[in-house]
Parts: sequence; structure tokens; C-alpha cells
Amino acid sequence: MKIGAPKELATGEARVALTPDSAQLIQKLGHECLIETGAGVAAGFDDEAYRDAGVTVVESAEALWREAEVVIKVREPSEAEADLLRKGQTLISFFWPAQNEALLEKSRAKGATVIAMDMVPRISRAQKMDALSSMANIAGYRAVIEAGNNFGRFFTGQVTAAGKVPPAKVLVIGAGVAGLAAIGTATSLGAVVRAFDVRPEVAEQIESMGAEFLFLDFEEAQDGSGTGGYAAPSSPEFREKQLALFREQAPEVDIVITTALIPGRPAPKLWLEDMVKAMKPGSVIVDLAAEKGGNCDLTVPNERVVTDNGVVVVGYTDFPSRMATQSSLLYATNIRHMLTDLTPEKDGAIVHDMEDDVIRGATVTHQGEITFPPPPPKVK
Ligand code: NAD
Repeated sequence: MKIGAPKELATGEARVALTPDSAQLIQKLGHECLIETGAGVAAGFDDEAYRDAGVTVVESAEALWREAEVVIKVREPSEAEADLLRKGQTLISFFWPAQNEALLEKSRAKGATVIAMDMVPRISRAQKMDALSSMANIAGYRAVIEAGNNFGRFFTGQVTAAGKVPPAKVLVIGAGVAGLAAIGTATSLGAVVRAFDVRPEVAEQIESMGAEFLFLDFEEAQDGSGTGGYAAPSSPEFREKQLALFREQAPEVDIVITTALIPGRPAPKLWLEDMVKAMKPGSVIVDLAAEKGGNCDLTVPNERVVTDNGVVVVGYTDFPSRMATQSSLLYATNIRHMLTDLTPEKDGAIVHDMEDDVIRGATVTHQGEITFPPPPPKVK
């Protein structure tokens, strides 16, 4: 099959779904690889690097969409890209089917098969294809780098001839994939890190990374077992206790990284205006939930704002794209693993096995039908 990656069209998007390395491995599955000219440049891969890896460089997006039997992308297609879809073609990209009903219907009507990378079930066998986790890991790391870039002091404590420097105190709220990556990065830079999550089962992971788990003595702390490992909204009583805990932390911490999300809902507001006001000047908040409305009252999505009391609030929503080389390498690997599972005989023939939990879960249109939402996966 011809597998092709077009240049991403979304403003500021620097990632690419095919790298020279992934292309070589995809070719070993018996496929041919195509790339639109310039598609990898913003991620650090020029046309020459693709040619050296045996990839055919195609001169326009139209030609790419026409020639490729499987189109691989990062972002969901634009309206104009979806117009180029055709019967029997397969698209593999982030797609967010619940938020993109019209796009889903258009893809169905065109007769294309769509595999949504955001719908890959989070079961052990599918971890190698879990692009949400690989991107969240990068976002967590980059959040700490952005915090450092906006923070006027060291993370690590130092005793120097010119004086003693205390370590920075970092609070991470939400210890899912991004939060744990932020904890790991901040501790490795020498900060004193504390973290909170509504799921107490993450305490061990937090502590194993050298951070302190902020324990909330409350009966209702969630174990996540009823929600597939995800958090559910907190009760008003739990929320009040949690806010009181954060209020105590606010004057003490230098950097707050918030990552708290509840699937299918706006981000819970957890770092309120009075807490920002209680922080020291020069403190930094990085809100990784900005795209879902933000965990902090003062977050402006896609902006960096400085409050009257000198606190920097970073609300960027493009952290993975800010590390486009790394993100493209990991995302392209996730896609390559998906293609490996779709090519069981390594003979260049795609077998779309709807009995396979992972392929079924991620497929949102197939053979003229909308196949979203999927049934729950049978295996763990
Ligand atoms: P997420 O991005 O949905 O949420 C981030 C974190 O915010 C979660 O840890 C959540 O508990 C926390 N949170 C929500 N409300 C909060 C509040 N009020 N206060 C503090 N924290 C709050 O999470 P994620 O990174 O996608 O991970 C969610 C779950 O999925 C975890 O259990 C994770 O281990 C699991 N997971 C499994 C796999 C796999 O098995 N392949 C892969 C990735 C994640």
C-alpha cells in the first residue's frame, strides 16, 4: 500500500506523522511511503532525509491525497482535506470524533475508513500505539521547561561563595501521564516537588519519583476503579477540602503545574484567583489544562499573562508542537505500530480486523458506517 503524510495545515503545528526512521520500518512491512514536500521541515526533517530513507517526495497536498491509499496525519483533517478523502481510503490521525460530528459524517459519506489515534484503547497491549500518552509525556516535560524559562531562579538549591540558594518548590496538580512527567522533570532539575491527585493510588508513583504526595484525609478520595482509571468530578465537600489544601500551599510554592482533567468535561477550576494573589512575585503557573478551559482562574488559553502581583500564568496549548522533533519521532512510532498491527503478514496488504480490540476501538468510520463509539474492550 502507499502510505502518505501531508504537511500539517493547522496554524503553528510543527509535527509530522512520518519520519525518515519510521518510513524505513513501514517499508519493511511491504508498504511504499510518500511525503508532501516540506512536510517534515518544521520538525527537523528535510525532503533529502526522506529521500535517503526511500520515501517519495510529492509536490502538492492534492497529489499526496490522490496517490496515498493510507493517509497518516497528526491533526484531524480540515474541511478541505476531508473533501479529498475517497472511498476505500484509510486515514489515521488524531480525530476527536465526539467533538467533530460533521467531520465524522463527512468521512463516512465519503466511504473512507478513519482510525482515530485518540481512540486507541488504553490497555496494556496498545501502549505502543498510545499517542495520547506519548504526547502527554512531552507536554509534562515541556511544562517544566517553560516554567524554568519564566522563572528567575534555579530549580536546584545551591551553596555558593556568593550565598545560599534555596531549591524551588514545585506543586503538580493531577498526576496522570503529563503530571508524572512534570514531576520527574522537576525533581531531576533539583526542585522540591509535591503533588496532588484525587486518585490516591498514584501516591506510590509520586513518591517513587522523589516527590511528596499531598494527602487529603477524606473518605471520598476516588480509586478510579469505577471510571476505567480516570477521575470523576469531586463532591462539593471534597472540593472544599482540596481548595483549602491548595490555599495553604499558595504562599509557599514557586511553581504550580496543573494537569487535572476529567474525560468529557471542562477542566475543574482548582487554582483560584485568591491563590494566585497569595503567590510570591516571580512565581509561575503552567496550566496544561488550558485547552479544556484551564485549572487556573486566570489562565488565558494560548497566552502568557503576568498578573498585577507579578505571577506569570502560561496557558499555551501546543506543548508537544513546541518540541516537534521529539513529538514527531514518538507519534510516528505510534503510527508505525498501528500500521504493523494492520499488516499482519508484512506483505504490504492492510487487514482491517474489526475483531481486534485495538483496531476496533480506534476505528470511527468503516465501510460506509459510523463505528463510534466502540463497544468496551474485551481484554485488559
Ligand atoms: P487525564 O489527562 O485524564 O487527567 C490528568 C490527571 O488529573 C488524572 O490523574 C486525574 O486523576 C487528575 N484529576 C482529575 N481531577 C482532579 C482534581 N480535581 N484534582 C486533582 N487531580 C485531578 O489523565 P491521563 O494522564 O490520561 O491518565 C488517566 C488514567 O489512565 C490513569 O489511571 C492512567 O494510569 C491511565 N492510563 C493508562 C494507560 C494504559 O494502560 N495504556 C495509558 C495512559 C493512561
